[in-house]
Amino acid sequence: MLLARVSVPVPLGQAFTYSVPAGLELQRGARVLCEFGRRRVVGVVLDVGEREPDVPLDKLKPVVALVDPEPVLPVELLDFLLELARYYLAPIGDVMRLALPAIERSSARALAGQAELAAVGRMVRVARALALPLPPEIRGQARAIHEHLLASGPTEVAVLAARFGNARAAAKRLAEAGLVAIEEQAKARDPFFAVPAPRDTPPELTPPQAGAVHAIIARLEARERGGYLLHGVTGSGKTEVYLRVVERALALGGSAIVLVPEIALTPQLVGRFRARLGERIAVMHSGLGDADRHAMWKSLRSGEVRVAVGARSALFAPVEKLALICVDEEHDGSFKQEEGVRYNARDMALLRAHRAGAVTVLGSATPSLGSELAVREQRLERLVLPERARASAVLPRVELIDLKRVGAGPSGHRLLSLPLHRALEQTLEQKGQAILFLNRRGFAPSLLCEACGKVIECPSCAVALTLHRSGRPRLACHYCDHSTPLVDQCPACGSGRLSEEGAGTERIEQALTEAFPAARIARLDRDVAAGAKSEKVLDRMRRREIDVLVGTQMVTKGHDLPDVTLVGVLNADAALSMPDFRAAERTFHLLVQVAGRAGRGDALGKVLIQTWQPEHPAVALAAHHDVAKFVERELEDRRELGYPPYRRIALVRVDAVQEARAREVAAKLANLARKHAPERVDVLGPAPAPLPRLRNRYRFRFMVRSDDRARMRPVLLAIARASVDRAVRVAIDIDPVNML
Ligand code: ADP
Ligand code: ZN
Ligand code: ZN
Repeated sequence: MLLARVSVPVPLGQAFTYSVPAGLELQRGARVLCEFGRRRVVGVVLDVGEREPDVPLDKLKPVVALVDPEPVLPVELLDFLLELARYYLAPIGDVMRLALPAIERSSARALAGQAELAAVGRMVRVARALALPLPPEIRGQARAIHEHLLASGPTEVAVLAARFGNARAAAKRLAEAGLVAIEEQAKARDPFFAVPAPRDTPPELTPPQAGAVHAIIARLEARERGGYLLHGVTGSGKTEVYLRVVERALALGGSAIVLVPEIALTPQLVGRFRARLGERIAVMHSGLGDADRHAMWKSLRSGEVRVAVGARSALFAPVEKLALICVDEEHDGSFKQEEGVRYNARDMALLRAHRAGAVTVLGSATPSLGSELAVREQRLERLVLPERARASAVLPRVELIDLKRVGAGPSGHRLLSLPLHRALEQTLEQKGQAILFLNRRGFAPSLLCEACGKVIECPSCAVALTLHRSGRPRLACHYCDHSTPLVDQCPACGSGRLSEEGAGTERIEQALTEAFPAARIARLDRDVAAGAKSEKVLDRMRRREIDVLVGTQMVTKGHDLPDVTLVGVLNADAALSMPDFRAAERTFHLLVQVAGRAGRGDALGKVLIQTWQPEHPAVALAAHHDVAKFVERELEDRRELGYPPYRRIALVRVDAVQEARAREVAAKLANLARKHAPERVDVLGPAPAPLPRLRNRYRFRFMVRSDDRARMRPVLLAIARASVDRAVRVAIDIDPVNML
C-alpha cells in the first residue's frame, strides 16, 4: 500500500505514517495537510513508497491534501536533514524546524490567520488554494475564487479583489474553512539595508591568495567535491578569497553558502559582500523577524538569490545546486548550537557539501585541531596565506608581561601594569588607538565576605554573583536572569566587610578614565551593546571618536580597524583555568585573534599580553604566532589523553530540581551505557557537572568515548530510548563543545 512518512510539527517531533489517497501525487519535501488527533497540521513528506503499514489499518489516516505542488525543500536539503537527525539522534520534527521558517511549517489554521498578521506595511497578501474537495456549502463567489486560485496559482488578494467583487470576504471565509491559505509575501528586505555599499573594485590578488583561489576554482569547474582548510594569518585577505570563489560558483550556475560566527556578522562584513555581489546575497541573521526571515528564505528557495550569508542557521538555506560552502573562523565555538538540536554548523557544512558534491572552504588564522588532523589525514587540503594582504601591514610585535614580577602602574590597578600604562601613554601621544581585552563583564566578578569567607552566590546557581556598578548598581548572575540590588551586608553572617574581588570591564573602564582623563574611553560588552548595537560602538571607533576601547570577546573577532596600534590582553590566563580539555586551545585562539586586531593599517602594531603563566605553551606560542608548534604539542596531548579529534565523545547531561533524582538517573543511564558498550567504547562517570547547579537544577553527566563513531551508536541509542523519571531532563550532546 502507498504510504507516506510525514514530519509533523508536534512536540514529539517524530515522523508519522499516513496513507496516500489514489490520484494524489506526492513528492518528497512537499507539504501536506494531515490529521493529527483532532487537529489538522501541515507536515513535510519525508518519503513515499509501497510498504506494509507500521500501524493498525483502522488507525491509519490518509493525507488530506497537498499544500503546495512544489516541494518546500530541495531533496538534497531534505536528505541532509535526515542524516543530520540521525547523526545527532535528534527528532526529525525538531530538525525540520531548523530549515523551515515559522510560516512554512504553521498549521492550516495559522496559515489562514496569517492574513491578519500580514495586513501591515510593505507586505503583500497572497492567497493560495489548497487542493481540497470543496464542501457543497461553498458556492458562488467563493467557489469561483477557489477555482481561479487552483487554475492560476497563488494570487495577490488585491488582484482578486479587483477581479471578483467582494473577494476579501470570500477569501477570508475560504481561509477560515482551511481551503485557502493567505500568506504575506514581503519583498526581501536586508536587515543590513542601512549599509552603504558602493561597488568596489576587486584588488589584485596577492600570490598566495591567487594560489588558493585557483585551487578552489579548479575544483568548482571540475564539479568535484572537496574540502579546503584556508589557513591565513589575521588580515591575510581570506574574505577576498571567499568573494572570488563565491562569484565563480555563481558564474558556473551554482549556489553558495557563507557561514560566519554570529558575532562577526556585522554590517562591515555584509557591506563587503554587498559591495562585490550586490543584490545577489541574502543575509540570514538571528535578529531577523519572522516576516523578513521568510522573505529571505523565499528568495533563496525560488532561486532569485543564490548566495546565503549568515550565522550557523544559514547552513539550512534552501538553495538548489549547492556548489560551495565557506565557513569563516571555522574554529569558533559559536557554530555549535547549545540548545534544542545540538548541531555543529562547521561539521555539518562538511557533511552537506560532501553529499551535494560541493566544495567546502574552512577559513581560519587558528584552525581547529579537528581541521589540523583532517589535513594530516588528507581529508582536507591546506591552502596557506602566510602574510598580511596589505603590503604595509605586518604582524604585530608581541610582548609578554609576567604579572608575578611586574607591579601596578600609576592607576594603582594590578591589571593596568606599568608597561601597559606606558604603552597606552605612548599610543595616545602618537594619536593611535588601543583595544584592551578582558573576558569578564561587570565591575567585580565576586563579593567576598571578609568576616565569614563566603562569596555571595546566586540563589539558583552554584556560581558567584557579579557586581555591576554602571546603570543600576546590582548583583547579577551571568548564568541565569537573577539580579538583586546591591547589598552592604553579608547575607550569611551580617558583616559589613564585603570585598569586591577581581576586575571586570567596568572597573577597568573606570580606572582608565581616572588615569587618562583626556582620553576618550569606551566599553564594549554585552551590557552596553547587544547584537547590532555593538556596531555603533565599533563605528565610533572607526570614525576615531574613541581612543581606548575596553571590552570582552566582542572586541576580538574579525574587526578590521586600521588605526589600532596597541592591543592589551589584561589577563591571558582567565580562560586557561576552565575545567575543559580545550582550555589551552581556546586560550591560544583567543590570544592570536585578539593580537590580530593590532597593526592592520600602515603603522606597526604592538601587543602586550599580561599573564601569570608566561611559560604556558598556549601563551608563549601565541606570543610568537607559532600556530604550527602549538598544534603539534596540543595534538600530542590529545592523543595521549584520548580526547578529540582522535576520539569521538558524547556527553550525556542529566539534570533535575531534586539532586537525588538527577543523580539516580545519571547512574542508571551510565550503567545502561556500560551494558551496551562494545569493545573500544568507554563510559566515564557519572559525576556532578563542573557547574553542579544551574537555574535551580542539579546537574550530572557522563561521557561516552570511542575511536570509532559507529561503535558508539548502539550505546547512545540505548540511552536515548531509555525511559526515565519525567522530572529529569536528559540530553545527549554529540561532539560537545561546551564542557561545563
Ligand atoms: P582576514 O579575513 O584574513 O583577516 P581580510 O579579508 O579582512 O583578512 O583582509 C584584511 C585587509 O586586507 C582588508 O582591509 C582587505 O581589504 C585587504 N586586502 C585583502 N586582499 C587584498 C589584496 N589582494 N590587496 C590589497 N589589500 C587586500
Ligand atoms: Zn559573611
Ligand atoms: Zn543564577
